Amino acid sequence: MTDQTMQFQAEVTRLLHIVTHALYSQKEIFLRELISNASDACDKLRFAAQTEADLWAGDSDLKVVLTPDKAAGTLTISDNGIGMSRDELVGNLGTIARSGTGEFAAKMTGDAARDMALIGQFGVGFYSAFMVAEKVEVISRKAAETQAWRWTSDGSGQFTIGEAERAARGTTIILHLRKGEEEFLEALRLSHIVRTYSDHIALPVVLEAEGKTETLNSASALWARPKSEVTEEQYQSFYHHVSHAFDDPWLTLHARAEGKLDYSLLLFVPSSRPHDLFDPARKSALRLYVRRVFITDRCDELVPPWLRFLRGVVDSADLPLNVSREMLQHNPVLARIKQAISRRVLTELEKKAGKDAAEYEKFWEAFGPVLKEGLYEDPEHREAILKLARFRSSQRDGWVSLDDYIAAMKEGQSAIYVINGEQADQLKHSPQLEGFRAKGVEVLLLTDPVDDFWLSVVRDYAGKPIKSASRAGADLDGIAGSAEEKKSEERPDDAALGTLIAALKQILGDSVKDVRESKRLTDSAVCLSAAEGDMDMHLERLLRQHKQLDKATTRILEINPGHPLIRALSARAQQSGAVDALEDAAHLLLDQARLVEGEPPADPLQFAQRLAKLMEKAI
Ligand code: ADP
Ligand code: MG
Repeated sequence: MTDQTMQFQAEVTRLLHIVTHALYSQKEIFLRELISNASDACDKLRFAAQTEADLWAGDSDLKVVLTPDKAAGTLTISDNGIGMSRDELVGNLGTIARSGTGEFAAKMTGDAARDMALIGQFGVGFYSAFMVAEKVEVISRKAAETQAWRWTSDGSGQFTIGEAERAARGTTIILHLRKGEEEFLEALRLSHIVRTYSDHIALPVVLEAEGKTETLNSASALWARPKSEVTEEQYQSFYHHVSHAFDDPWLTLHARAEGKLDYSLLLFVPSSRPHDLFDPARKSALRLYVRRVFITDRCDELVPPWLRFLRGVVDSADLPLNVSREMLQHNPVLARIKQAISRRVLTELEKKAGKDAAEYEKFWEAFGPVLKEGLYEDPEHREAILKLARFRSSQRDGWVSLDDYIAAMKEGQSAIYVINGEQADQLKHSPQLEGFRAKGVEVLLLTDPVDDFWLSVVRDYAGKPIKSASRAGADLDGIAGSAEEKKSEERPDDAALGTLIAALKQILGDSVKDVRESKRLTDSAVCLSAAEGDMDMHLERLLRQHKQLDKATTRILEINPGHPLIRALSARAQQSGAVDALEDAAHLLLDQARLVEGEPPADPLQFAQRLAKLMEKAI
């Protein structure tokens, strides 16, 4: 079979362009990426060989070998891992087979430093070889196959693939270095790079140069070493290896448990969001090891979905080495580890929050919306998550915790008030909060989609009920404040107001649940509120937008007796023919309340006609 030439996926071509043109500052990271891939390939082989021992084929001495050749100007990186078939070579090295590809291509800025970070998140990995090589050859033979394949490219839009020879399974990568990159042929330089970036790799990285063979790294599992022997840099490069990301870990948690459960863990909270954080699959990325042997990085039983941003390793001594995928599901050992990890991480977060509020807020901004999923999914950790939660507030800038909120509660206030919607700024000025504002009662502004869901199950915190400010029952009467007197200043007498309310009810009929005098409005004439027990207004809107719900619940129309318009309408209501005369006004009031709430008018055409009629009169 002759060699075949193929095109790179368009995104790869763009990526390669950036890799070869922009990222010259940290070129040596190519070696970290290639060693990282070799290590992954060895992990995969070891895992596969647990159920298929033949795959070892007499060679279980897994390692990565670096061979510089000054005469040829090549650096070779070779491993005896799982290897790649022809299709895998084409698929893995010709495309970016990631869910975030499109997103990634769109996010490229042309700014080298930013694209570099982006590339880290999306895994430029292998393609970084082109930073130093004008031509890259990959010769690979998949475990248990006899045919080897050669993949070659100069990184400019296409690659060729054809048959090759390789004595045994594994992958050899030959970098034909560009002019000026000869430093990567020097034993000393290579040894320094490996110690800097790849020391944590759990298998030997061996240098074969000038007739000598030398192991460059310590080749022991980093998480199994005592904390005191691991440096910050080692943690960091290990984090880069396991997370395929370039950012620094925001939190490093290295611990060992002995006793009922015997496991080690080395976990990281990233400092920026992984690109797939909001994938609907909500997959975990933790790596599971059993006594230093890699088992899988696809195990959702290790952490709950609301901790899916964690990266790192869990190494259990309680599972059998030949654990199968099926065994991982509903496994009692894993279930206990999961509980323990959840608790530990929450405790650690609380410590961080106590130590440095500003640092903690960075975490909250990145991962708060994910953590809050735990509020409705994991009642067991609800209290701890509520304690960690931070909110925007109607009364102050910055982030507020529930404990902060409670400390600032007004005399006579017994509930924690919240309101949810899309934007904090908009919510702050919502008519439903007028009464709260007038009395200086703080309301927490909830703007993440997830808030609607946990609010429907979380009833209280620290003995205080959590109440929506957009509900009719949000009663401010008992709370001390300065607004009360002002409210009763000028208002229609009860009879006139009663007549108006009756007229409005008659006109609006089924389009409202009730018409009531409002206790909360101070400036606006009207607002809507949800009856106690009805679905929250924002949640309902969200569900309707997502076609989860087609019928709207009718709402209560609250009217402000102190408002001049309501006063005028009350006066009109007492004259004859009131119901006919108030028809347009009643509908306009309701539509106005709907608009402020973010709802369209009940009937846009009629709304426009009524408004036009009114304007005609006024002009
Ligand atoms: P990542 O390592 O993040 O998956 P890379 O660009 O580094 O992305 O590598 C792409 C893919 O190519 C890997 O996921 C792997 O399937 C394959 N690959 C790369 N190097 C090797 C290797 N030495 N042995 C086997 N497969 C490899
Ligand atoms: Mg890689």
